[in-house]
Parts: sequence; structure tokens; C-alpha cells
Amino acid sequence: MSACIFCKIIAGDIPSAKVYEDDKVYAFRDINPQAPTHILVIPKEHIPGCDAVTAENSPVVARIFEVIPAIAKAEGLQEGYRVVSNCGAHAGQTVPHLHFHILGGKPLSLEMA
Ligand code: AMP
Ligand code: ZN
Repeated sequence: MSACIFCKIIAGDIPSAKVYEDDKVYAFRDINPQAPTHILVIPKEHIPGCDAVTAENSPVVARIFEVIPAIAKAEGLQEGYRVVSNCGAHAGQTVPHLHFHILGGKPLSLEMA
């Protein structure tokens, strides 16, 4: 059994507030929201992070970027939103399973670092 917390969420072993699911992608609400809307979009396949994206596994990343605007529309984020993926220690990645944060619901700070 995987030790990865997001793999456990996909498997249903850890509860989550599901927003979207298909055969390759899962999306759920962040447990510690940093904006009024804060959703995580993840591949069902365990990919450790942006650094581990390859020609073989990148189709799921493309799928994620098709799903993101659909989620944003369903969540009423027509005023805009931010997509963030933290990669590695300096970026503050805390869960080593590729994920994209969707942040929105208010004007966001432009602070990047
Ligand atoms: P990062 O710091 O970019 O690796 O993002 C990891 C995110 O996962 C953080 O925003 C956490 O709040 C979120 N998170 C961790 N555990 C859970 C969980 N069980 N359910 C929902 N979100 C979680
Ligand atoms: Zn995982």
C-alpha cells in the first residue's frame, strides 16, 4: 500500500471533499485553504512532482489542464484564478505527489517569492 497521502485520498482511504473525478484525474478541496476557493488537482497515477513529468506521463498533465478551466467555471471563478505547482523544498512542496493548486474567489496578491 502506498505511503503517499494523495494516493490514499484517491483510493478513498483518507476522506476528501471531492470536486471532480475521471479515470485519470482527481480534484478535491485543500484542507487548509489559502483563498476562498482552493482546490487541488492531481493525477491518479503517482508522479512525485513537476520534475518527474516525462514524455510518457505528460498526457495526464494535459488532461489536468483541460479539467482546470472546467472546474474554475463550475466554481464561478470567472473573475480569474491562479494555478500553482510547488516543486521541491525551496518551493515549499510538502506532498510529493504532483498537484496543481487552483486559487481564487478574491483578488490575489501578486507576491511570488
Ligand atoms: P504543497 O505545499 O504545494 O505540497 O501543497 C500541499 C497541499 O496539500 C497543502 O496546501 C495542504 O493544505 C494540502 N493537504 C495536505 N493534506 C491534505 C488532505 N488530507 N486533504 C486536503 N488537502 C491536503
Ligand atoms: Zn501518490
